[in-house]
This record gives sequence, structure tokens and C-alpha cells, in this order.
Amino acid sequence: MRPDILNPLFAEATALKGVGPTLAKPLERLGLRRVVDVAFHLPTGWIDRVVRTKLMQADVGRVVSIVVTPVEHRISRSPRGPSRVLATDPQGNYVSLTYFGGSSGYVKKLLPLDEPRQVSGRLDQYGQELQIVHPDLSEPGEEVREREAIYALSEGLTSRRMAQLAAQAVERAPVLPEWIDAGLKERRGWPGWREALARVHADPADAVARARLGYDELFANQVATALVRASTRARKGRPLVGDGRLRDLLALPYALTGAQARTVREIEGDLAQASPMLRLLQGDVGSGKTLVAAMALLIAVEAGAQGALLAPTEILARQHGETLKRQLAGLPVQVAVLTGRDKGRAREATLMGLADGSIDILIGTHAIFQEAVSYRDLGLVVVDEQHRFGVAERLLLQAKGRSPHLLAMTATPIPRTLTLAQYGEMDVSRLDEMPPGRQPIETRVMSDGRLDEVVNALGRHLAEDRQAYWVCPLVEESEKSDLAAAEARAEALRRRFGDRVGLVHGRMKPEVKDAGMAAFAAGRTAVLVATTVIEVGVDVPNATLIVIEHADRFGLAQLHQLRGRVGRGGGNSVCLLLRGPALSETSRARLALMRESNDGFLIAERDLELRGGGEWLGTRQSGEAGFRLAPPDQLADLLSCAHDDARLLIERDGGIEGARGEAARVALYLFERDAGVQLLRGG
Ligand code: ADP
Ligand code: MG
Repeated sequence: MRPDILNPLFAEATALKGVGPTLAKPLERLGLRRVVDVAFHLPTGWIDRVVRTKLMQADVGRVVSIVVTPVEHRISRSPRGPSRVLATDPQGNYVSLTYFGGSSGYVKKLLPLDEPRQVSGRLDQYGQELQIVHPDLSEPGEEVREREAIYALSEGLTSRRMAQLAAQAVERAPVLPEWIDAGLKERRGWPGWREALARVHADPADAVARARLGYDELFANQVATALVRASTRARKGRPLVGDGRLRDLLALPYALTGAQARTVREIEGDLAQASPMLRLLQGDVGSGKTLVAAMALLIAVEAGAQGALLAPTEILARQHGETLKRQLAGLPVQVAVLTGRDKGRAREATLMGLADGSIDILIGTHAIFQEAVSYRDLGLVVVDEQHRFGVAERLLLQAKGRSPHLLAMTATPIPRTLTLAQYGEMDVSRLDEMPPGRQPIETRVMSDGRLDEVVNALGRHLAEDRQAYWVCPLVEESEKSDLAAAEARAEALRRRFGDRVGLVHGRMKPEVKDAGMAAFAAGRTAVLVATTVIEVGVDVPNATLIVIEHADRFGLAQLHQLRGRVGRGGGNSVCLLLRGPALSETSRARLALMRESNDGFLIAERDLELRGGGEWLGTRQSGEAGFRLAPPDQLADLLSCAHDDARLLIERDGGIEGARGEAARVALYLFERDAGVQLLRGG
């Protein structure tokens, strides 16, 4: 049970003043359903504004705050033209306050003549005039914040509104017992949890407070990890010893790579133990994880048990199903696929086969662990693209069968420094060797000013009967604009290439999305315009060109994954990274790194170093790993610290039963890592 002290935080967001159905929607789009989500929706940056008593040319480009008096309404003649209000500062200098899209009546009411107002906004030069577009208004004398937080937003929200909601959420937040080791807290100069939260929202530049919040999240993760590990080790599973009879029948057109062979041996060793395997298989895109999974599953079947392979999406599940059925054709092994879309008789038949043991290997999505699905004897579970699943799901699946062995696979290249901490509860195997004959992908970085050339190159590519991906930018502000960008791009490309252009995005109904993917895989469309939904696993060998717009907005790990969509066939593949006009040094260096290396692990390692400059922007990337608060550039440091501290808690301070454990337990629930606690109870 969640400690009562956390209840105010886990109330619905509508408990906040002013949040009704209208505001709940844009919040929901940001994933902010509860007060705690709002509290943890940290500012992504800030604006510094200068308070002035006089308008000055020198402030053009800055956000200024100044008291001015409206002297003239200049209403546009055309109904859609902007409305301007001419105003003067105390010295009589003019500024035009400009409103687009508002009715003139509205603007007149907003800024009556001769009534001084405090306005804030970016001072622009418009012809001869100074102007501020859509200024924020307040009464003269009202306090003006010199630093204002900026938040990730969705349509219907402003940063100001978000700040107010965050302030309310902080208000509701209780003072929590301290879970951080006293010595550590003092050394780092960290405030208490609630104070840290308040500080980050009040001053987004407060690095110390941010570090504390990030640490908390990592600490909760590490404690959960340590608990899972301890309980798994204590569990009794069953040893699975294969006799090789199925693996020997496997007719592969190639030999295992050294790394694959080594990994299979490691897995074989784990499976032979009574305590369940808990192993992570890390391997770059294309390193051949599927074959390792197949070997592991065959060992389980040889030992008389069943195996299951969990994939994050329907399309990947089907793809794995086909690959495995093809590979295992002729072997006395029954393979079935089950996803949420299988209904009726086919589903019934599969369920029967699982229950009576006639199905040896099941491949599917979450559906394979629903309650209705019961296995005769599930001995091994393989999870593909591990980073898509949380601890909770892993635990759910382990509840099936008698503590089955677990093999988790991921292509997300995590720097070595982070692996131990991130997957601390697991043993790790690495596929650090690519199958032979792989053509490296040629990567080029181009300015998006050269879009026409890119489209021409695409035309030549298609003329050779090849296919291509076109990935649209990740727009930070909202998912909607992601979508708009993708739709607009598809539209533009259709004008040139007609109905050979397909489109898939994350907001489509899964069936529609899969149909779009399938059309591309079958070659019915030649260009697939997509948001990042193609990130994971899809395999279309004839697609040998990928264009990624606004590549500078992606995390490198993600870029690398996207790039891995090509280079799967025999021919040369090309990845075009389009960049925006103004790039920071870091962004430049990061894109250059993509150009120079095809090695996911190297890229991850270097990316971590490069982003050391305090860019908070990369949160999406750490988000992939399930962390929302930890500042990416401090992840490595904070994680190893949290790892050690969690160990101290478990080994020295009596675990979550001891005095400090009480507080740690609160942290587990606060960050919803409580699955670890429940596991202990249930186990
Ligand atoms: P990933 O690790 O990204 O899941 P896959 O398992 O999809 O990689 O393998 C990528 C490709 O490499 C597949 O087409 C697979 O058949 C091929 N492959 C796997 N192992 C070998 C090998 N030892 N030698 C040659 N090709 C291999
Ligand atoms: Mg794969």
C-alpha cells in the first residue's frame, strides 16, 4: 500500500485549483494525469527578462518588462490583419504592441487609452518602430519575475499557466522523511526533497536542487533494482538443461559470430542453474540478437519446457514470428503467435495449445501474459527491446510459470558507465561483434536549406527501385505538431512522387499504422514518411536510404537506432541527417560523431561526454531509460552514487525494513518503483 503521506500527490490533476475538463485535456496530452506528474514536470529552460523604465534600442532582442501608456489604437482595415496599440514610455518613446488574430474590440478593451500598464515581451524592431508582439500584461507595480520558467507544453497551455499549476502542486507536496544518506546529502549540499522541488520550479537554473531530484529518482530505481535482484536470487526456479538435439537440426546459412556463440554459452550456463536467469543481452542494431533468442528458446524446449518471446509492438511480434517459423521449419517445434488482435477461434486454439503443451514457443505482445493465458510449463521468457518495458511488466510475466528464466534484449546502446547501475539486477552479455559482410552505412550531414537537393536525390534513389524512410522531426512542444510536420511532409512528397508515398505516425490506430508499415514492407509504397514510430526493429532490406529531418533534435542513441533501419540488405545504404541553421558547438560535434561512427556503444559513450555542458535538452533520451528527472549530463555520476547508496541501505542499514528503509519505501512509492516491494511481499 502506498504510504498515506503521498496521497495528496497521487490525487488526480483536477484536484488542482483551476483544472477542469478543459485544462485536464492538454495536461493529459503531456502525460500529466496526477498532481505528482505536474510536480515532476520540470521546467526545460527559462527566460531572463530585464525590467526597464525606458525603451532602448539596445534592448532589441531581449525580453523586457516596462510600464507604458497606450496612446492610440491602430486597428487594421483588413479583418485578419494585426491590431496595433501605440504606447509610450515615461519619456515619450514609442512602442507598438501588436496583436495577431484578435478582434479590434478585444484589443481596445485589453489596453484602454491613457491607462498605464506593465507589459513584458520580446522587444523587436519593426521597420522604424519598436514593437512587442502579444505582450504579457500586468498592473503597474505588480511584481515582475526576472526569471521565468519555460515548460514543455501542449496546445491550450502556457508556461505561465504551467508554472502556476506546478506551484500549486508543490504547495500540496508534503515534507517527506529523508531517504538520502546523511553524509552524502551534506557533502553535496542538497536540500530536502520538498524544498528541492520548490526550488527547481522557482528557479529552473538551480542545478543543486535539480541534482537532488534526479538523484531521488535514480535512488528509487536502484533500491527497486537491488530488491528485485535479491528476491530473484532467492527464488527457486528449475534448471533447464538442453541436450542439443534441436539446435543440431538447425540448418543455418551462416556460422554464429564469436559473440553470439559466447553469449549462447553464457545463457546455457544460466539456464542450467536452479535460481532463475536474469540476463540482459545488449547488442547493437543488426548484431543478431534474434538468433541468440532462438537458441535460448530451443534450449528450453529441449529441456521439455515452453518458451515465450515478448515484443513491444504487434508488427515486431509478427515479424519475429515469421523469422522464427522460417528458421525452425522442419524442426519438431511448434511456434505460435498471439497478439491483442487475435480473437475468436484462432485465439482459443492458441490458448489450448499453450495449456496442453502442444505449442512449444509463443511469440507475441503483452497479450501473452494476460490472465486468460496459461502455460503448461513456461520455462523461459525472452523480452525484446527491453527498454520499452518496465519492471512491473517483467514481474507480471515472471508470475507465469514457476519463476521462469528471463532473457532481456536491448539495442539501446547504453554507455558502459551506466549499464551496471541501470540494469544492476541483471547479468549482462554483449554482442560486440557484427555478423560479417555488413556494409557500413554512409552518413552525411546536410543543412535543411538544401531540401530540394535531398528530394532530387530521393527521386534518383526511387528510380533505381529502391525504398526510403523519411523521418520527421521531433517537435518538443507537442505531439500534435509532430504529426502536422509529418503530414505536411508526406503531402509535399506526394506532390512529387504520387501515391508511392506512405505515412505512419504514433497517433494512428494500431491497425492503420501496421497496414502502412506492411504496405512499405511489401514494396507497395516506396517512401515511408514517419515520426519516430519506426524506431524499433522493423526490417525492410530494400530500404537503403533514410532521411532524418532536424536530426539535431534527436538523442544520438535514437538517431543510431533510426539509422539502423537501413543497411539491412546487400547494397550500400545512406543516411542523410538534415540539420537546422543555427547549431550549437555540441550539436555540431554530436552530428559529426554520427557521421564518423557506426558503433552504437562508442556513440553512446561519447554522447555522454559531449553533453556534459549542462544541456537539459536531452531529457527525452534519459526518458527512454525511464528517468524523467535526472539531468542527462549528470546521469553517470548520480547513478553510480545512487547505486552505492542503495547497496549501503540494503547491506548496512537494514534494507527497507530498517529505520532509513521506512523513508526509502516512501521514495519507492513516490517514483512508482513499488513493484519491487510487492515482489518481496508476494515472493
Ligand atoms: P538485431 O540484433 O538488431 O535484432 P537481427 O537478429 O535482426 O539483429 O539480425 C540482423 C540480421 O543479421 C538478420 O538478417 C540475421 O539473419 C543476420 N544474422 C544474424 N546472425 C548472423 C550471423 N552469425 N552471420 C550472418 N548473418 C547473421
Ligand atoms: Mg531485433
